[in-house]
Amino acid sequence: MLSVEGLKVRYGQIEAVKGLDFTVAQGEIVTLLGANGAGKTSTLAGIAGLAPATGMIRFENQNLIGLRPEDISRRSIALTPEGRRVFPALTVAENLLLGGAMHHKGGSLDATREEMLTLFPILRERYRQRAGLLSGGEQQMLAIARSLMSQPRLLLLDEPSLGLAPKIVDEVFRLIAGLRQKGITILLVEQNAVRALDIADRGYVLVNGRITLQGKGRELAQSDEVRAAYLAA
Ligand code: ATP
Repeated sequence: MLSVEGLKVRYGQIEAVKGLDFTVAQGEIVTLLGANGAGKTSTLAGIAGLAPATGMIRFENQNLIGLRPEDISRRSIALTPEGRRVFPALTVAENLLLGGAMHHKGGSLDATREEMLTLFPILRERYRQRAGLLSGGEQQMLAIARSLMSQPRLLLLDEPSLGLAPKIVDEVFRLIAGLRQKGITILLVEQNAVRALDIADRGYVLVNGRITLQGKGRELAQSDEVRAAYLAA
């Protein structure tokens, strides 16, 4: 579905991503792991057209390099950025509606919203509340649901567990695993390697803008390098 070759992302003098090759097949959850500053967010931003990228990003046989973010979104790719950027002054309902502004596949907006409220029952309970009053976990779910309102086939998820209590992290990861069941393909950026590898089919480890290790989720979780670097803490 997604095939990335020689991807570089550069901000002026800083080369954040230094030539990545990776693939995501239809129906997979693939995780990009790495420490702070390894280039994970820049990789997602490059795919979404939000950062200057070179190389090849082939999505269903079309190169995305050089396309505008809205054109990439129109090709059924959605990004849920780090930091749960919901609109705090707007209600849950309004946040979902805004996510639906790029709704482009068939079916009604109402039906998609209903699907989201079934998938995330807490959002139905909080439907008329301002997003800023939700807990961190609830805001994360709203951020994901909002991205899904555009009915993407590929979801780019940036650090969904960041800053959440362990119990809530479990819930968020259960939900992400459930999205695969709904036919959504996911590229998941995480620092929480244990949880990410638990639900991922495959993973890549990024160090300083390069891939140093790759493999199946379970294999990576057991590799000495990953255990030493990420699982020991
Ligand atoms: P984090 O988990 O902290 O988000 P990351 O692995 O996602 O880390 P990036 O955010 O992609 O890493 O950052 C990679 C490198 O690029 C870092 O050195 C960072 O300082 C730099 N960088 C990121 N965004 C920009 C920007 N807009 N302008 C300049 N440099 C940037």
